[in-house]
Amino acid sequence: MRTVAILGATGSIGSQALEIVRDHPQLRVVALAGGSREAPLLAAAREHGVKLLALADAGAAQRAAAETGLDVLSGDQGVVELVRRADADVVLNAVVGAAGLEATMAALQAGSDLALANKESLVAGGELVTAAVRASGRMLLPVDSEHSALQQCLAGAPSETLESLVITASGGPFRGWTAERLADVTPPQALAHPTWSMGTKVTIDSATLMNKGLELIEAHHLFGVDYPDIEVVVHPQSIVHGMARFRDGALIAHVGLPDMRVPISYALTYPDRAATSAPRLDLAAPFSLDFQPPDTTAFRCLGLARQAGQAGGTAPCVLNAANEVAVASFLAGRCGFLQIADTVDAVLAESELEPLQSVEQVLAADRRARELARDRLGVPA
Ligand code: NAD
Ligand code: MG
Repeated sequence: MRTVAILGATGSIGSQALEIVRDHPQLRVVALAGGSREAPLLAAAREHGVKLLALADAGAAQRAAAETGLDVLSGDQGVVELVRRADADVVLNAVVGAAGLEATMAALQAGSDLALANKESLVAGGELVTAAVRASGRMLLPVDSEHSALQQCLAGAPSETLESLVITASGGPFRGWTAERLADVTPPQALAHPTWSMGTKVTIDSATLMNKGLELIEAHHLFGVDYPDIEVVVHPQSIVHGMARFRDGALIAHVGLPDMRVPISYALTYPDRAATSAPRLDLAAPFSLDFQPPDTTAFRCLGLARQAGQAGGTAPCVLNAANEVAVASFLAGRCGFLQIADTVDAVLAESELEPLQSVEQVLAADRRARELARDRLGVPA
C-alpha cells in the first residue's frame, strides 16, 4: 500500500493520476488539492473517500467546506499545510506554475517522495529543490514524459559513462513557421497541439518552445548534467521521449505512443512499473521517426531558457515568472504570440540576478519579475 497526495488534482495530469489510482488498489489517495474549481475536486474526494482537501482559491474552499462540512484548507499556505498533514508516501505535484514551489519544498520536508509534474518549481527553485531532495533522502520522480524517459534510460548507468542527454520536442503546432507568420497566431491556433492533450499553460509553452527550455533546465537539475551536454531535438511524432548517449557510442531511447499515464504511473508505482492500459505502439503498422534541429530564431524562448539556465541563480526563476505572465496575457488576447519571448527577454535584461539562497528570495524574485512583465504588457496586477 502506498499513500498518495495529489496537488492540482482537477487538472490534466491530476485527473489522469486519479485514473491510475483507480486501477491500482496498492495506491490510496489521502489528500487532494486544487486551484479554484471545487466541483471536480469534491467529486474526486467522494470517489476516493478523501477528507483532507485544499483549494488555493478562498471562495472555492469556503463553498467546498459548506457543501461537505469538512475543514477545507485554503490559499497557497493551505496547500502546503495539506502536504504536511497528509504525511503521504508520495506527493504528486501537478500544480501549474511557480505557485507549486512551496508545495514542492513542503513535500520533501515532510519526508514524502515527490512525483514532480510541476516543472516550474524545479526551474525556479533549482539547487534549493535538489538540496532538499538530498537532505530528505527521498526520491524525486519526474512526471514530465521526457524526464521520466531519461530517468529510465539512465537507470543503473555510472555517471562517468554518460556523454549527453537528448530531449525531444514535438515542435508544437507551428513547427516550420517563420517569425513573420507567428506574429498573428491566435490562442485557439496555439492551443491545437498536434500530439499531446494538456493544460492550457503547458500547451502554449509547447507552441513557443518555452516548454522545452523549461525542460532543459529541469533536466540539468534532475540529472546533474551540464547545459552543453543536453541536446534538444525536434521529433514531430512524439514517440521517442528521451535519449541518453553513452561514451561507447550507444544511444539508448525510451519509445512509446504519447500518453502521460505512462510516466505518471511509473512515478507513482516506482520501482514496480504497474500495468497500464495505455495504447501500445504497433510495430507492424507503418510509422516513421523524424528528427531535426529546433529553429531557435523563430522560437526564441528556447535560447532564452538555455541562457537563463547557464546564468543560473535567480535567472531561471525570472524567465519562468515573466513567461507565466506573458502566456496568461496571450491567452487573454492582450498580447501577440511573439511578445511572449520579447517580454521574457526584456524582463531578464531588466532584472538584477542573484545567486540562489532561499525560497523567500526566489518568491521575491518571482514577484518582481511578474511586476516587470505586467508593466511591459500593460496588465493590471
Ligand atoms: P492544468 O492547468 O490542467 O491543471 C493545473 C492544476 O493546478 C489544476 O488542478 C488547478 O486547479 C491547479 N492549480 C492552479 N493553481 C494552483 C495553486 N495555486 N494551488 C493549487 N493548485 C493550483 O495543468 P496540467 O497540464 O495538468 O499541468 C500541470 C503541471 O504539469 C504543469 O507544470 C505542466 O507543465 C506539467 N506537465 C503537464 C503535462 C500534461 O500532459 N498536461 C505534461 C508534462 C508536464
Ligand atoms: Mg514534457
